[in-house]
Amino acid sequence: MDDAGADGRHAGGASGDGEAIDPPETFRESAAVADPDVYDSFAADWPDAWRAAADLLEWERYPETVLDDDDPPFYEWFPDGRLNAAANCLDRHLEDRRNRLAIRWFGKRGERRSYTYADLHREVNAAAAGLRDLGVEEGDVVTIYLPMIPELPVAMLACARIGAPHNVVFAGLSAEALATRIDAADSAYLITCDGYYRREDAFNQKSRADNARLKADADLEATVVVDRLGDALETPLAADEHDYGTLVDAHDGERVDPVARDATDLLFVMYTSGTTGRPKGVEHATGGYLAHVAWTTRNVLDVRPDDTYWCAADIGWITGHSYGVYGPLATGTTTVLYEGSPDYPDRDRVWDLIERNAVSVFYTSPTAIRSFMKWGAEYPDRHDLSSIRLLGTVGESITPKAWRWYREHVGGGDAPVVDTWWQTETGAIALATLPGVTPMKPGKVGPPLPGIDARVVDRDGDPVEPGETGYLTIGSPWPGMLRGLREGEERYRREYWTESEDGWHYRTGDGATVDEDGYVTILGRVDDVINVRAHRFNTAELESAIVSVDGVTEAAVVGDDDGGVVAYVTTRSDVDPDAALREAITTEVAGVVAEVARPDRIVFTPELPKTRSGKIMRRLLEDIARGEEFGDVSALRNPEVVGEIESTVREE
Ligand code: ATP
Ligand code: MG
Repeated sequence: MDDAGADGRHAGGASGDGEAIDPPETFRESAAVADPDVYDSFAADWPDAWRAAADLLEWERYPETVLDDDDPPFYEWFPDGRLNAAANCLDRHLEDRRNRLAIRWFGKRGERRSYTYADLHREVNAAAAGLRDLGVEEGDVVTIYLPMIPELPVAMLACARIGAPHNVVFAGLSAEALATRIDAADSAYLITCDGYYRREDAFNQKSRADNARLKADADLEATVVVDRLGDALETPLAADEHDYGTLVDAHDGERVDPVARDATDLLFVMYTSGTTGRPKGVEHATGGYLAHVAWTTRNVLDVRPDDTYWCAADIGWITGHSYGVYGPLATGTTTVLYEGSPDYPDRDRVWDLIERNAVSVFYTSPTAIRSFMKWGAEYPDRHDLSSIRLLGTVGESITPKAWRWYREHVGGGDAPVVDTWWQTETGAIALATLPGVTPMKPGKVGPPLPGIDARVVDRDGDPVEPGETGYLTIGSPWPGMLRGLREGEERYRREYWTESEDGWHYRTGDGATVDEDGYVTILGRVDDVINVRAHRFNTAELESAIVSVDGVTEAAVVGDDDGGVVAYVTTRSDVDPDAALREAITTEVAGVVAEVARPDRIVFTPELPKTRSGKIMRRLLEDIARGEEFGDVSALRNPEVVGEIESTVREE
């Protein structure tokens, strides 16, 4: 990567330079970590300091060894330890908390279901017994294709209980995508449902799963079907298909001993979002993953057993795995599970859920926050959100403007906001502020967590100077790291690792800058750099300037064929995208970034095309700007906007 600023100014990216906001005193008093020495003590005692994470778990055999790094980059965390992930999420809480709520579920039709830890334990045991009955054994991969209903975490934990790795596929993905993932995971078992509601209509998930079975090379041994819709859809079951309710009823009250697994055994397979190319099948091990997730849930999100916590991410993605299921349940807290969308039946929905559940810790994405901003502050402002203690965000860079809006309108103006950087591959949070210790800088994710050796380096692997653009890498292994890829050892090595004189480095694929205080600003993907009239600019830097204009909610910039900049821009619902707004945008970019970076075209659009996990698909927007073929858009969350955008661009 190159210097981004054409006028000698380096990419400050989405940073709000200089401003550091101290952790609020009242928060600090009860924070999980309040001692700044934590950074030094992890550094001095690495990797052994990570025992603190292992100690948050209950082990069948406590690990003597913290890290085996004999065969890099195939690292093994807690290699001689043995444990069961489901026992850590359920059984060990029974003594103290059997009657505390584990899950409060809210369905799309206004349904509600609550599970205490005892309830959840009972159903997971019955489901585990049922799966065994169908032939599932330790090591068999079970594919789960379910929407956000309680049976999804139950199925995951039932698999974990019997040592069967799960392979959750986001319920909104196509039959094709499901078939690929069944085959890639060598999975012979599938758990799905008859259907689910999309706003008013019942959608037939079962027929999509049937199509996937036809497309897949693998022959499934058995399929379990959850009845989500009652009689709303006719879904007859074949001989090798089993009704979930009947199966669980038949085993109700049975106990299945949790199977002790090696810490290095596979807990699950999870595919990346596919923002930059074909999704990769990431494998996570049991011990290191769960330890890192538990440690960060407790110390970064500051979740306590007496919290009501809500991670709004879909369990079909890594955030939902780590911080929607394993993290909160390992911590013994109450977690909200929400099936619906944030604007159905109305735009008060999210705030209503926070209010009625007295949610104290809320974790969501910049995409969601930008939607909230677009809808307007009147929605959160008319709810009592005073229960909120801490806010988190993940998935993309958050602009200082969105960060402040979130803190102001959701966090009551004083809750800590943790901007957490991590990936499917890292398994758990790797960079973020510690909310009771580290000052926050809006737009910057912050320093690496204690014990995480992240650096911003140049092409040769040398650390860049503060303010210069470089590559975000991780210089030493960390507990939550992937243990490999479904695509094999060679791909794993090639995709992520570089060997140099001082050892092996993990390449995150993200570009970043670092400031004098060691705070990292994520600039997006390494390839998200555009060439404008022979100058190189980072997309995040341009976009941050554009969204700082009043009335603008989202922006994506791409390069066109003539070396110019095309900006796709969405606005707040009450704002007219007129000539004055265009002028304000170009002036802002010229003033804040560089004269030469002025957008040549500004395309106003009601929405930007997004992946299913909510990330802007810049590649597609670039194809449109260049008038190129853009192929299949069915993997998008909102494919319908593509046609609209294309015709707007053509008309101009
Ligand atoms: P693929 O790897 O298939 O292209 P993906 O990288 O989008 O897809 P994920 O693992 O879901 O799949 O996303 C991780 C990426 O999300 C990170 O590499 C980074 O680019 C982005 N990201 C996550 N958290 C943050 C954050 N707090 N700030 C900026 N970017 C973030
Ligand atoms: Mg990625």
